This record gives sequence, C-alpha cells and structure tokens, in this order.
Amino acid sequence: MHNLSNIGTIKSLLQKYGFTFSKQLGQNFLINPSVCPRMAELSGAKEGVGVLEIGAGIGVLTQELAKRAAKVVCVEIDARLLPILDETLGEFENVTIVNQDVMKVDLHALLQEHFGGMPVVVCANLPYYITSPILMRLLEERLPIEKITVMVQKEAAARICAEEGTRDIGALSMAVRYYSHPHVLFPVSRGSFLPAPEVDSAVIQLDVFSQPPIKPIREKALFALIKGAFSQRRKTLPNTLNSTLKIPKDEILAVLGQLQIKPTARAEELNLQQFCQIADAFVQKGLL
Ligand code: SAM
Repeated sequence: MHNLSNIGTIKSLLQKYGFTFSKQLGQNFLINPSVCPRMAELSGAKEGVGVLEIGAGIGVLTQELAKRAAKVVCVEIDARLLPILDETLGEFENVTIVNQDVMKVDLHALLQEHFGGMPVVVCANLPYYITSPILMRLLEERLPIEKITVMVQKEAAARICAEEGTRDIGALSMAVRYYSHPHVLFPVSRGSFLPAPEVDSAVIQLDVFSQPPIKPIREKALFALIKGAFSQRRKTLPNTLNSTLKIPKDEILAVLGQLQIKPTARAEELNLQQFCQIADAFVQKGLL
C-alpha cells in the first residue's frame, strides 16, 4: 500500500502523472499522517457500513475508509486524478470512484445503486469553495445518511456548529440544526496540507436526525424567515423582517408579543423553536 502521507511518495506520484494542484477546485491534500485514520475512525466507517466520500485527491482518506468500511464510493470531479487513484487504490476492491461534480450528481440514485439498504455515512476533506452548498445539499435532500464527518475551514466550523444564542450563529447554522446535531471533533493546522492553505481547519461532525426536531407548517416559510432575519442581523427583528420580507411592522410586533419575544430582539437571540413559532404565526396570518 502506498504511504500517501509521505511527502516523498506524494511528490513522486504527482511528478509521475504530471499533476499540478488546482486552486479553483480547492485541492489541498492531507499530508499529516494522524488526521485521516482519526477522521475515518470517528466517521462511523466500519463493517456493514457504506461511506460516501467527496473529493478523493490522491486517495489518502479513501484508503483509511476502505480499510474499515464495507464499501466506499467517492465522487471526484477532476479526471486528471483518475490514473493516480487507479494506482493508489488499486488493491481495494471495495472502492468506486465516480468522476462527477458532487453538486450535479443524482445522490439518491448513487446511494441506492451502490449501497442499497446499507447504513451510510459521509466522510470527506471538503473542497472549501463549496462547503456550505455541499452540506446543505446533503441535508436538504433527505438522503439516507446517518452521520457527516467533514474537514472544513476553522471559521466555517465555528459558524456551522455555533450554539443557539451566540454571536456565531447564522442562517447556515440554524438550517444545519434543523436537520442535524453539529459538533466540532478536532482542529487541524494549515501545515497538515499540501499545498498549505492560508487558514486552519477543523473536522466537524453532523449527527443527522431521522426526523427534524420541530415541525413547521411550511418548511419553506421557516427558511425564508431565518434567511430574512439573519440578512440584517444587527437590526431588531421588526425592522429586519419589515425590510427583508415586507411584513408590516404592526403584524410583526403582534406576533412577537403573542410569543413573548421582546420587540428589540435580534435574530441571534432566537432559537430554532422560536423561529418555527414565528414562521407558523406568519403562515397562519397569510403573511409568509
Ligand atoms: N481527500 C483528499 C485529501 O484529503 O487529501 C482531497 C481533498 S481536497 C481538499 C478536495 C477534493 O475535492 C479535490 O480532490 C478536488 O478535486 C475535489 N473536488 C473539488 N470540487 C469538487 C466537486 N464539485 N465535486 C467533486 N469533487 C470535487
């Protein structure tokens, strides 16, 4: 088996295949030997479990997943990596590389085709330019996924895993909380990658709920409210919602009063349950 954390091995592989890193595709490959085994171990990859990976690179995390899981399917957009992966993962019969864009591939069909009814987890060192779209896609499509363990930028980790009622909370963290329980697993320094990015990273984990913890009358209304409320987060809710959702201020004040939320509250002071109550009240009044 190739030692894909060894800088000499990596460089000679890259040279052999004439591979150059694409900044545009977020190609920062892991070279810290302790990170991939730790990620794979914590991801839930084990006997009887299927793993969806996004972005194989030269296969350093894929190897660790393949050693533990029943099957690994990795969606990798860059066709230049395919001959390298043939060489580095050739000995693993339980790995399939799908050369597609993860934002375009039919994930339901992919999971059904490769994993059938097997429990599935996601584990990936994400391309940072599309961290939020990938996470939202994995969550919104209600895929049969139990856990998502991903490397993201340190700042993104703080935002995604922010606790309700704290400054870091935003529309993304609220949405993530609707579908899952997010938490930070461990930090990873920028020196753990080749080439080294300009920021540090962290591995986070989302335990995906089989059912959302709250049931809004209309999901779309809840998300429109959250997006509207956080788009002008410094303003009070009546001002923000009036300007972003065009709801009359007196109606907003009436709903907040009815729910015993102070009229000077800002988006970051509310929890998901309260957003759901406000959205439901607006829906019932035909305002959203
Ligand atoms: N897993 C490898 C590692 O840890 O060394 C590579 C991680 S690198 C941060 C991100 C990988 O995602 C790259 O291999 C890149 O080509 C791939 N990628 C970028 N955009 C993608 C997309 N839209 N769909 C699928 N893969 C993508």
